Amino acid sequence: MKKTNKIKIKSNEYIANLPKEFNRPTDTVGQRLLKEYGALFIARGGAIPPNTVIFKGERQVSAYQASLSKSKENIGGFAVELQTAAMKNLKDAIAEAEKNSLIITPRGADAAKRNYADTVMLWASRVNPALTYWVEKGALKEAEASRICSLSPFNQVSEIFKLESQGMFCSKDLAKSIVYSVAPPGTSQHLSMLALDVNEHDDLRVRDVLAEHGWFQTVVSDLPHFTFLGVSKNQLSKLGLKKIFDSGRFFWLPNL
Ligand SMILES: [Zn+2]
Repeated sequence: MKKTNKIKIKSNEYIANLPKEFNRPTDTVGQRLLKEYGALFIARGGAIPPNTVIFKGERQVSAYQASLSKSKENIGGFAVELQTAAMKNLKDAIAEAEKNSLIITPRGADAAKRNYADTVMLWASRVNPALTYWVEKGALKEAEASRICSLSPFNQVSEIFKLESQGMFCSKDLAKSIVYSVAPPGTSQHLSMLALDVNEHDDLRVRDVLAEHGWFQTVVSDLPHFTFLGVSKNQLSKLGLKKIFDSGRFFWLPNL
């Protein structure tokens, strides 16, 4: 049989629960992103997840976002736009929280929906200072840093992962992978309008109310970040997600 560079993933519960039209990545970057951010793709309850782990540009993102049923509300002083199913459940969670004198508010104007350009900007806000830092440290040649800077945001991703495999981490604190700090361009769950960054994420009662309404934490160490999965907690493992304990709380990730 002919050898290929493609990596095979065994079929398992998570894979079996992905939407039929989902394009399963076969490259190492795509596979890594599926592992880190992939809980989103099994979202149920009226949510329409993207059919790809990585959007290649604004046109692709806009076409996907335009196809969705969305709703916009003013919450905590910010305009929040989400897929309709995610918004309905968020509002139910907020109403239930209020009964217990709790509030659930967005972290800022970009707490929910983002576009492709936002993800490029956020990515650059981590990559550029990190490259400067590793050049100053003497770990990275200046010419190599310039070469990486000159690549398209999409092509930078594998290069940054390569640096990180050599210990040159690019998160904000330069001590862990950039994927725990900011999503590579075109891969943010916020593009799907099924994610929300919440101010009150430290409060276990708030996390519990959100979970009761289908909102879970799915990106390890991204503490304010919640993802609408549209199912109850006891269905998550049946959909192929596993529970990870990190930073004093639980996250749900693909069991790959
Ligand atoms: Zn987020």
